[in-house]
Amino acid sequence: MNSNRLLLTMICVVLFAFIGLNFYQASQRLPEHSYSDFLADIDNGRLKETSIKGGKIIATDREDRQYTTFAPDVAGLLPVLKGSNIVINTHPVSVLTTLYKDMLLIILLFGGWMIFSRKSSASSTQFFRKNSAKSTPRKKTGVTFADVAGISEARDELKEIIDFLKQPSKYSRLGGQIPKGVLLEGLPGTGKTLLAKAIAGEASVPFFSIGGSDFVELFAGLGASRVRKLFEEAKKQAPCIIFIDEIDAIGGRRSADYRNGSNDEREQTLNALLVEMDGFETNETIIVVAATNRSDILDSALLRPGRFDRRITLTLPDIKERLKILKVHAAKTSTSSNVDLSLVARSTPGFSGAEIANLVNEAALLAARREKQSIEQTDFEDAQDKISMGLERKNAVINQEARRLTAYHEAGHTVVAKLLPETDPLHKTTIIPRGLSLGLTQQRPFDDHITYSKSYLLNKISILLGGRLAEELIFGRLTTGASNDLYVATQIAYRLVCEFGMSEQIGPIASIGNMSADVNGVFSESWQQSQQTLREIDTEIRRIILGCYETTRELIRDNNELLHMLAESLLAHETLDGEEVDIVYRCYLDHQRIETKQKSMKKN
Ligand code: ADP
Ligand code: ZN
Repeated sequence: MNSNRLLLTMICVVLFAFIGLNFYQASQRLPEHSYSDFLADIDNGRLKETSIKGGKIIATDREDRQYTTFAPDVAGLLPVLKGSNIVINTHPVSVLTTLYKDMLLIILLFGGWMIFSRKSSASSTQFFRKNSAKSTPRKKTGVTFADVAGISEARDELKEIIDFLKQPSKYSRLGGQIPKGVLLEGLPGTGKTLLAKAIAGEASVPFFSIGGSDFVELFAGLGASRVRKLFEEAKKQAPCIIFIDEIDAIGGRRSADYRNGSNDEREQTLNALLVEMDGFETNETIIVVAATNRSDILDSALLRPGRFDRRITLTLPDIKERLKILKVHAAKTSTSSNVDLSLVARSTPGFSGAEIANLVNEAALLAARREKQSIEQTDFEDAQDKISMGLERKNAVINQEARRLTAYHEAGHTVVAKLLPETDPLHKTTIIPRGLSLGLTQQRPFDDHITYSKSYLLNKISILLGGRLAEELIFGRLTTGASNDLYVATQIAYRLVCEFGMSEQIGPIASIGNMSADVNGVFSESWQQSQQTLREIDTEIRRIILGCYETTRELIRDNNELLHMLAESLLAHETLDGEEVDIVYRCYLDHQRIETKQKSMKKN
């Protein structure tokens, strides 16, 4: 990529020099007269001076006007000029200038050809390119974690990988399972490429990169051969990183596309990749980092242990992370010290890292156009307007109404999780969209539960229902945003009844669909449950969920101040971790205490 850019710059410079030179010459260009006119002027004695350069003649007449002409036979002309008493200046033809011009032309042509031959990948040039894996810049990236802001979670997860790249022997010595593949998932612009480069930079190992779409060629087998070449090359440079961008281009589920054989090619390429990844020797320290924003369509073969078994999700940055990213990029510019970047961070919900980088760049350009010494707040604001308008067209900026709805939905989950006993501690709650969901409330179990109590499961259902209930209580209408919550809640209720035998109505009977196990634990389909039982199960599941729904509605209604407080905090901060939720909760309790105290004082 870099060498390409260098080449492009070089060609641009040369092109400008060339054009500039021509302009300069054009500005000096004199009118051209025919040779016979020139001869006539000599005969009439109108000429004062001539300047001869090769066959080209610049003639100056007695009124000091100049023109040029071309002499077919300079040697024959000289005696004539001499005879007419005209001053003759001669210049040797500068070999250098001609050479300079010729070289320019050659460089131009060559550069053009290089660009053309690199760019045109879909056409017949492919025939000639064959197996030249163009994808192997062997240099170190020079990118470090300092360049990637707001990814503390991912950073921790990657520490081990970097350590492993730095000291492979430490790990392989004991025959431990060595990580091979890391899958980075996230929307475009969330810093996947940057992070992959940073891994290489931190470990100071070479970085090989290739785009998934580079693999998929018109000719079957080419992609697979590229994969092999790439790994061959990488093995020579190990330890190193191989980065595969858009891995979904080859790693999409295999049956997905049967159009004109392209699927076949993709499959071959994918298989080659799997074979290479499975075939690392323990002393070949290569980490394959792949990026995708469609992890949902990836072939499960890619995700098996020993392949891309580490997955790291990069989300859109929240307000704190946006501030960090802004700081990283502002540090590369001269931003005025009175710019309040946290204001910028606050007003850019929905921006990806790339869009923030772009924002800083636009602000710098605006400031430059306004001939300022440094970037000021107004430049940021105007740049943001400019970008936001573009983004709105792309529907990337979440509109305010939907944001409020999401905030109350997530706050609903959180209120219930906070108030009910026997629940997992809250990890975080956020209104930053991630994939299809608009927000997320996450709990972390203290430790891996081996057994669940019935009240734990019922509370889990209540927490799931909390989102929808909050929407209903505040906005008085239902949206489709809660459908996944309902699905999960129903599933828990189903297992509670049919798998765990916790329902009083049905009793301690496991009845998983139409299947049942015989005494030896072998499942057979022979035992059909009666329609009666199925109906009872249905009724029971409904009873459980509706029961939870009622109690949860009461709970949220009684504590709607906490709901408002949490929703407002979410709107202001976008993400709250467990500790921050606790702070809000404590405020709420204090508030409650004051109110009860005041009430009792009024009574007395
Ligand atoms: P992706 O590969 O996920 O599409 P990139 O890694 O190409 O995204 O990100 C594009 C640019 O956006 C980066 O070069 C960087 O300037 C900026 N960027 C994205 N995320 C971050 C981040 N977390 N910190 C700093 N800059 C970022
Ligand atoms: Zn929800």
